[in-house]
Amino acid sequence: MNLTELGWNPFFREQFEPYQAQGYVPARIVCAEKQLYDVLSEVGELTAQVSGKFRHQSASDGDFPVVGDWVAIQPYLKEAKATIHRILPRKSKVSRKVSSGAERRSGGITEEQVIAANLDTVLIVTGLDRDFNLRRIERYLTFAYNSGAAPVIVLNKADMCAEVETRLVEVEAIAFGAPVHALSAKDQQGLDVLRQYLQVGKTAALVGSSGVGKSTLINGLLGEERQRVNALSDSTSKGQHTTTRRELIVLPGGGMLIDNPGMRELQLWGDEENLQGSFADIEALAAQCHFHDCRHAKEPGCAIQEALAEGILDHNRFQSYLKLKKELLFLEKRRHQSARVIEKERGKKIAKSQRIFYKA
Ligand code: GDP
Ligand code: ZN
Repeated sequence: MNLTELGWNPFFREQFEPYQAQGYVPARIVCAEKQLYDVLSEVGELTAQVSGKFRHQSASDGDFPVVGDWVAIQPYLKEAKATIHRILPRKSKVSRKVSSGAERRSGGITEEQVIAANLDTVLIVTGLDRDFNLRRIERYLTFAYNSGAAPVIVLNKADMCAEVETRLVEVEAIAFGAPVHALSAKDQQGLDVLRQYLQVGKTAALVGSSGVGKSTLINGLLGEERQRVNALSDSTSKGQHTTTRRELIVLPGGGMLIDNPGMRELQLWGDEENLQGSFADIEALAAQCHFHDCRHAKEPGCAIQEALAEGILDHNRFQSYLKLKKELLFLEKRRHQSARVIEKERGKKIAKSQRIFYKA
């Protein structure tokens, strides 16, 4: 396996230079299980553990490698083993907040638990059935933005929805410029649109509530490959080892998907009944502004400025709203060559292509 196919790029190469000088080899974590790792490198797949020094210097679980990490290893080829000496800085990371008992007692300080690293795209999957919920999509968008990866919204189960176009427009209105695609994983319709996020060397992961169709989608993207891999795991123990453990899957087309228990269990909702939009309050205020296209700066009759002045709306909260909006637009613009053309035609075009697809 060559490193570029695994996502190696100039950023990591630069970070790796000092370790190169020490004779280490770069490798990517494809499975992390109780501090036992599988790594892929130019010298093949190896089973790895962190060095004694590494362990000694690690204060918490958060310091240990996770799936997707690039690490500096010392390989022992005869035994197909390796020692991990360093984690290279992460380009992006998916994490959740956990609060241990001790921390809760000391005032509710939460610790970050990293689930996966170095993702290019977070595919936010939702179903166009009873699961459909704009507030939930907003929450996942905020979450994806915080990860540093670019969010893409996938509206699955289009086969169950008579108003795909309406839903697309509704979602685009809250998407801050993140791409939105409708498809049907079950019918294998429209999956190809996701290939642009899964090109050689690119890493993505799927997030979304249970039942939205993430597994069906992964199987669809893997196609016959997964069946082949499964057959292999039945016949040889070696195959079983790699397939049952591997959490970073290389797709037939070249891209990579991270699919592990942490990702699957990632629920942004403690209480499904109590859905609160991440920025629903700001939206509600914005609806009361005098001008329809209010930018909430110095316009007269701006409900948001009033709320800020009266202390009803928190300044920091408004700033994070603006930041999210700006960053997501930036990600979108960077993805496309011509931002201005995109701004004008984006909505129309995407809706149109989906329309053609679903009339067929
Ligand atoms: P996960 O929990 O997100 O991994 O969801 P699954 O992939 O297990 O799918 C949950 C259910 O939704 C299964 O019964 C799937 O067959 C069904 N499903 C998945 N994708 C689609 C789709 O595009 N259309 C329809 N109608 N059902 C789907
Ligand atoms: Zn306003």
